[in-house]
Amino acid sequence: CVVAAASSSPAVTTAEAGEVPATMKAWAYDEYGDGSVLKFNEAAAVPDIADDQVLVRVAAAALNPVDAKRRAGKFKATDSPLPLIEVDAQTVPGYDVAGVVVKAGSQVKGLKEGDEVYGNISEKALEGPKQSGSLAEYTAVEEKLLAIKPKNLDFAQAAGLPLAVETAHEGLERAGFSAGKSILILGGAGGVGSLAIQLAKHVYGASKVAATASTPKLELLKSLGADVAIDYTKENFDDLPDKYDVVFDAVGQGEKAVKVVKEGGSVVVLTGAVVPPGFRFVVTSDGSVLEKLNPYLESGKVKPLVDPKGPFAFSQVVEAFSYLETGRATGKVVVSPI
Ligand code: NDP
Repeated sequence: CVVAAASSSPAVTTAEAGEVPATMKAWAYDEYGDGSVLKFNEAAAVPDIADDQVLVRVAAAALNPVDAKRRAGKFKATDSPLPLIEVDAQTVPGYDVAGVVVKAGSQVKGLKEGDEVYGNISEKALEGPKQSGSLAEYTAVEEKLLAIKPKNLDFAQAAGLPLAVETAHEGLERAGFSAGKSILILGGAGGVGSLAIQLAKHVYGASKVAATASTPKLELLKSLGADVAIDYTKENFDDLPDKYDVVFDAVGQGEKAVKVVKEGGSVVVLTGAVVPPGFRFVVTSDGSVLEKLNPYLESGKVKPLVDPKGPFAFSQVVEAFSYLETGRATGKVVVSPI
């Protein structure tokens, strides 16, 4: 009976044979604009893999503000050409992925079919990001951009981590952050900020972590490891007497941020105006950073924060983007299952 059912169902037969279909379901756009340009494609081409890539059967994906800004055409100058003929003349958005390796290129050394992985699929977020992103059933990713998924995390939790945690880590590194230093994190409840607080406190060993958010999110900041939670609806952080070794700006308040850094300290800015000594960088995806952080994730010292409005269903990607674009998300907006 079971055998008969399997042989009469093409889907089951394909899965059993380990074969990858030629087409897949994907969200895609072929013009820049607001969320309305996103269309659900029932038969997008499954991307081919290069020798150094694996094909990932996507289980979960997460949204980042860069997806929305890129879709709006803000990075036209450095975006991959749109449309791209190879991918059904469409761009599939999505940087963050968690899923299972179903095929490995000839140069792939460390990953194999069946491995559960996570990562940020575009090495440079703004320079020629991938046209065949993670909001699809399959995505092709360089092995070096992926890591084995922490065993204690499900796919939805893991999908929310890569771009945000890599940004938090790279920002702290570039700012020269180290044990015993103090830090102010602007935007502590967002995707990047919630991880920057945890890394600063639980991985780097900060002497003091302060962070900003609106009133309902102050307890959350404390639970993530902030010693001081500043309610930006009631106080201006730059009116307070405290100065910090590092200010990490995930909001776009560079002009105020430089006022609260100690002499000789660093101000790292993710978006908006940059005023000396502040500096901005664009995240580089790197699987080895995820590997380095895996022990902290597996021990629970660093925890993923999935926005409680999600995970959003794969059919709800337009709604998920509208929510992300309110700028009020708590932690990560995750799409799962895919
Ligand atoms: P999110 O969408 O996750 O941030 C949302 C959070 O921001 C909310 O929790 C909100 O809290 C908080 N927030 C909004 N305004 C303020 C404010 N004035 N003060 C304090 N908190 C505030 O964004 P991400 O964390 O993913 O990204 C943050 C920014 O960094 C984006 O602009 C993004 O494009 C950029 N970025 C840049 C990168 C780079 O490489 N340069 C990489 C990653 C992100 P509340 O509801 O309490 O206001």
